[in-house]
Amino acid sequence: MFLDLNLVQDFNINYKTLCQWVLTVRRGYRNNVLYHNWSHALSTAQSMFAMLIATKQLQTTFSRLEILALMIATLNHDLDHRGVNNSFIERSQQPLAQLYGHSSLENHHYNMCLFILSNTVRPHPSSHYFH
Ligand SMILES: [Zn+2]
Repeated sequence: MFLDLNLVQDFNINYKTLCQWVLTVRRGYRNNVLYHNWSHALSTAQSMFAMLIATKQLQTTFSRLEILALMIATLNHDLDHRGVNNSFIERSQQPLAQLYGHSSLENHHYNMCLFILSNTVRPHPSSHYFH
């Protein structure tokens, strides 16, 4: 998907780094969660990809950086989901509720995404998007 959208080419993404990043994201999803697992993340990313490919208008509406962000976001959007909702996490006084106060899962998915990105991806020196 990243290749077909020319994201690898346009952002000088190292292909091996991309593969390592995807595998790390995959490991960030829990296998014992019935719905919010890697299959859900992959199908969400694939749906975004299909929309971007099917409608050229979307590719002109969004910048290249926004399209990269959409693909990263869809693949990462439920990272480390526990299969329960925010209300359950708050009522059972889990550490996530204490850590974030509100929207615990969404904050956790976002922070996991940034953590994985910052630990697997190094911007290419020639990429002007990161300066
Ligand atoms: Zn989801």
